[in-house]
Amino acid sequence: ATPTALLVGTGRGAQLGLLIRGPQVLESTRRIDTVVLDKTGTVTTGDMTLRRVLARTGTDPVQLLSWAGSVEDASAHPIARAIAAAAAEQGPLVPVESFTDTGGLGVSAVLGTGILETTSSTAVIVGRRNWLTEQWSLTPDDDLDDAAEAEQALGRTPVFVGWDGEIQGVLVVADEPKPSSAEAVRRLRRLGLRPVLLTGDNSRAAHAVAAAVGIDEVLAEVLPAEKASTIASLRRSGRTVAMVGDGVNDAAALAGADLGIALGSGSDVAIEAADLTLVHDDLIAVVDAIRLSRATLAVIK
Ligand code: ADP
Ligand code: MG
Repeated sequence: ATPTALLVGTGRGAQLGLLIRGPQVLESTRRIDTVVLDKTGTVTTGDMTLRRVLARTGTDPVQLLSWAGSVEDASAHPIARAIAAAAAEQGPLVPVESFTDTGGLGVSAVLGTGILETTSSTAVIVGRRNWLTEQWSLTPDDDLDDAAEAEQALGRTPVFVGWDGEIQGVLVVADEPKPSSAEAVRRLRRLGLRPVLLTGDNSRAAHAVAAAVGIDEVLAEVLPAEKASTIASLRRSGRTVAMVGDGVNDAAALAGADLGIALGSGSDVAIEAADLTLVHDDLIAVVDAIRLSRATLAVIK
């Protein structure tokens, strides 16, 4: 490969809104056969909003949202921002202590003293269903489970909220696929590439989003720490993998892929770990990157 042709390629990349870490990046792009796409914030907008408040019988829905939002106020996760914003709109948040964020599973905190009439403190847990059942021994009643499953089938994410030894309700959040995601997936296929959706979210919601944009290979309920090993096992199976992501959670997977592609609006750690950054957050640019590298290398050959 002549360095001049490669540098011309990176210059063209800048025009297409691609920030390429170095000329050698275009060379590895050529062999890519699989493009793994993170769901939230990559295929979808990441602008989650609260869609439903499902309180169990006997629990006040206003209190459910208020307490969950007060805990989520300390988290930067898109789910947390949606819940905290909706709660703040409804009324003032309450002070919490001992906040913990268990990445990819959920958050918890203790309500500040004086919130309850009793003197004992109450821990509020907000997160994935199975984290509440397994880690906190809280089990939802069948009505809540059925309602949550119906929401998942629509591509939404149910967030379970527990305190006082019970699951008190479910807050349903969702965002939408970016307008250009389906077209980007179509163009990836036209280039002979296999798109894969990768997410920590529930499997039903992941499949609903995948179907909406035309992806049929879905890897869901993957914990942040497992995203990199998922990429590694795809590579071991003989595939050459590009990974596209935006989150702190995606950084290790981006670094471990043959080609790591970060979104320009993504977290600094993701951008730092990537070979290439999409300035405009639009997945069509992933297609441009792969076409550019093929064209550049065709000139060199
Ligand atoms: P993604 O791969 O879509 O970026 P994450 O790995 O960040 O998702 O999160 C996976 C799942 O963990 C979420 O769908 C949600 O159920 C749960 N979760 C993570 N963080 C939070 C939070 N702050 N509040 C509630 N649930 C959370
Ligand atoms: Mg994401």
